[in-house]
Amino acid sequence: MDGRPYIGRFAPSPSGHLHFGSLIAAVASFCDAKSNHGTWLVRIENLDPPREVDGSADDILRTLEGFGLVWDDSVQYQSNRHHLYDSALQKLKDAGMSFGCACSRKDLANAGGLDFYPGTCRNGISQPKEERSIRFAVSKSNIENVKWNDLVQGNQNVLKSSLGDFILRRADGYFAYHLAVVTDDAEQGVTNIVRGADLMDSTPRHLLLQESLNIESPLYAHIPLAYNILEDKLSKFTKASPIQIQNAPNQIYDALKFLGQSEVGIDSPENMLSQAIHQWDLSKVPRSSSTHWT
Ligand code: GLU
Repeated sequence: MDGRPYIGRFAPSPSGHLHFGSLIAAVASFCDAKSNHGTWLVRIENLDPPREVDGSADDILRTLEGFGLVWDDSVQYQSNRHHLYDSALQKLKDAGMSFGCACSRKDLANAGGLDFYPGTCRNGISQPKEERSIRFAVSKSNIENVKWNDLVQGNQNVLKSSLGDFILRRADGYFAYHLAVVTDDAEQGVTNIVRGADLMDSTPRHLLLQESLNIESPLYAHIPLAYNILEDKLSKFTKASPIQIQNAPNQIYDALKFLGQSEVGIDSPENMLSQAIHQWDLSKVPRSSSTHWT
């Protein structure tokens, strides 16, 4: 980084229990922050009420504590931070970097643009249609190729033209993940983002938003995803079983093994993590976007 004090974070969405896949991201971001004498924050990304599961945020926090993953400062909840997203959205609007979009999913499907926005409303909404969502005008960014040196996956180079004008505020009125995460990481002074490789596709969009909002970009490290034998990403949306506090030592052991770190002896979660921090070496994390784990 540039001399700013290391601030890392773990940012779970409260859509279910923590499972092994999220434990890996939590352990990696925690150990990387602590081995750099940094601060480790936890932010609950409850941006999407329809997908939120009641009690999940508290359950995630209790599980982290039970695993010895104790955060610094107070936990932030995205539901309390809408004013920040609003002002970021206003800045983008003022800079001419956003536009209103009238397209419904059906319109996009008809235009063959469900995966890649076809640019329909980029130059204005055709009457009598009305604005539904707000999109980021990717094409107006000065960057042509979005590049970053990922601390696990190496040099990345993504063509801006492959990204499509993505959503900043959804048709249902909720702010989109890309806008909120970039705003929060900047507002919380986050310098290092260690997260799962499923979010690699989001990173070029985050870098473009940071450029437009005059935000200094953090460093990124994307750790491989754990796949089970059925090839499902171990996520809250699959049948991956939740991690159990009573089994924390074995699961921390497995997470560190998955992350390519030197072995730690089975002990209390706190002792295992302090040994892991001491031995932590980000360069040993496997450089692949996924690894099998049964
Ligand atoms: N909230 C996201 C998730 O649970 C993670 C966001 C991030 O780390 O940038 O998948």
